[in-house]
Amino acid sequence: MTGSQTVAFSKNSTNLFFHILTKCNLACRHCYINPTQHGKDRLPLSTIKAWLGAFSKNSRSTNLIFLGGEPSLHPDLAAAVKYAGERGFGSITIDTNGYLFGDILSKITPKEVDYFSFSLDGATRETNDGLRGQGSYDTCLDGIRRAVRHGFKTSLIYTVSTDNIHELEMMPPLLENLKINRFFIQVIGLRGKAALEINESEPVASPQVTRSQWLDTVPGIARLIADRGIAVTYPKVFLEPGEMFECAGKVADNYFVFPNGRVYRCPLCEDFPIHSLCFQEDHLVPAARLNEQDFFELDIPEGCVMNKLIQPRNIDYDEKGVPEYKIACCLLKEEINGAR
Ligand code: SF4
Ligand code: SF4
Repeated sequence: MTGSQTVAFSKNSTNLFFHILTKCNLACRHCYINPTQHGKDRLPLSTIKAWLGAFSKNSRSTNLIFLGGEPSLHPDLAAAVKYAGERGFGSITIDTNGYLFGDILSKITPKEVDYFSFSLDGATRETNDGLRGQGSYDTCLDGIRRAVRHGFKTSLIYTVSTDNIHELEMMPPLLENLKINRFFIQVIGLRGKAALEINESEPVASPQVTRSQWLDTVPGIARLIADRGIAVTYPKVFLEPGEMFECAGKVADNYFVFPNGRVYRCPLCEDFPIHSLCFQEDHLVPAARLNEQDFFELDIPEGCVMNKLIQPRNIDYDEKGVPEYKIACCLLKEEINGAR
């Protein structure tokens, strides 16, 4: 049996989530990309290099994740990966929906990329394709198998919502069959399309699962998966009484870079023009205040300020109006190392 541990935030390592374009071949129901905020740009290779240069002082301790949109739609993804390798980034991951355009598996080698990270939102074709689009399940599984055949290590990201939490228990044998090395469970955020659905004049029910659904399902299944030798990471979401709340915006080093030049420190802020940094003429500079940093400083009994602003329905209050628990920073993770 494997034990889980909460991963403390670290200032000694940096996570750089680099959206090199926002275009995608899919139109997932809960896509977090918001064209109004994130634009429709595709960065030229020269700009990708310049912006990577802005982070290369600490490149050895920086985990670089290329994403989009669908990053393999970028014709220079392979060149960007090779450049990042030359600059010595600590790890390089490509997040993909599995379509692997541009023959990307043949243009880079397993020495140049630490992980291909695939997204799948259901253990069955029916559930995944209902959320991510017709044919996406078969294509994603085929992409994983091809990546493994080419010798790449693979991760799989499963974003939990009310539409697919019931299929999480079917994932352990599928992950093993696909030879997945790392499994990431995410919680759906009310961002991008999910936020639009909620805010429309005839809103649909929130796709977010309740605290009890989450706690009854996710930690137990994560343990079962880890027992099969697969490393599992999932967000903490709900703090236990007495657990310390920390905001990653204050105590960690994460950057979410978009091709329109906005650089956020918190993913929950991405639907708003409150980024704390931006690229101007390829230099990373502070953005005007007020911005997300001003929210990071606020100390409220509910924990995460952005959660209270954009998805307050996941907080329960007692009869005196006191929150029954704090919502953790969305970047606080539980990790279970896979051990057979
Ligand atoms: S694959 Fe990613 S970027 Fe593309 S539509 Fe789906 S969630 Fe959005
Ligand atoms: S999710 Fe909340 S706690 Fe985490 S960085 Fe954003 S504002 Fe801070």
